Amino acid sequence: MRRHIYDSADLDTQPMVIAIDGPAGAGKSTTARLVAERLGFTYVDTGAMYRVITWIALRDRIDLDDGVALGHASERHQWDVEHRRVRVDGEDVTLALREPRIDRDVSRVAAHAEVRAILRERQRAAAARGNAVIEGRDIATVVAPDAAVKVYLTADESERTRRRAAEQFGRDEETLVGELRRRDEADAEQSRPASDATKIDTTGLEIDDVVERILRLADSVVAARQ
Ligand code: C5P
Repeated sequence: MRRHIYDSADLDTQPMVIAIDGPAGAGKSTTARLVAERLGFTYVDTGAMYRVITWIALRDRIDLDDGVALGHASERHQWDVEHRRVRVDGEDVTLALREPRIDRDVSRVAAHAEVRAILRERQRAAAARGNAVIEGRDIATVVAPDAAVKVYLTADESERTRRRAAEQFGRDEETLVGELRRRDEADAEQSRPASDATKIDTTGLEIDDVVERILRLADSVVAARQ
């Protein structure tokens, strides 16, 4: 069997961050979760953080154009996304975070500098602890520019729509394409590949192949340290 970095004691002394960025539907979440599982790393879903704030804002009827109020909301409540179930003040919101109403408004919430500053602090704390796979839009560019492995995942629009349709059962493709395009446009400012990121087009690829490629990148980082 091939030797992977999870055999390496090196990670105890030099913890590693793997940054996985890319647009909605590029396969980030599944890939990042599997890579984290294979390596025994923490999986940090930063999109879920923005979704939590959006969920709180909709519940508490906070003005989505009020960045200050949204920032306060994120600090006033108890929540974290580093477990399989996401809870806000004890309430399980894991499934609610994936509802179309959250998809619709999350980019608007994420556009506020106040919100980004607060969430980035949490994301940087996770990066500082290390041995983490951090998934988002701006991880390699802003949150963890020193990440040892930087990957930018993409996929054709039709493939991304198909994946969305599989997740959001019963919704027609035309609506989903429209939503995807709107979100791409709204996210464009934060969603850029780092110049030194490895770009992987996941169109037509098996998820396991994408995971293997990322594990190989991590292997080569560890090999280069020795
Ligand atoms: O990845 P996911 O689809 O869950 O992300 C939800 C939204 O959160 C994105 O559309 C984007 O607006 C925002 N986001 C962000 N920066 C990140 C992660 C997500 O702005 N690092």
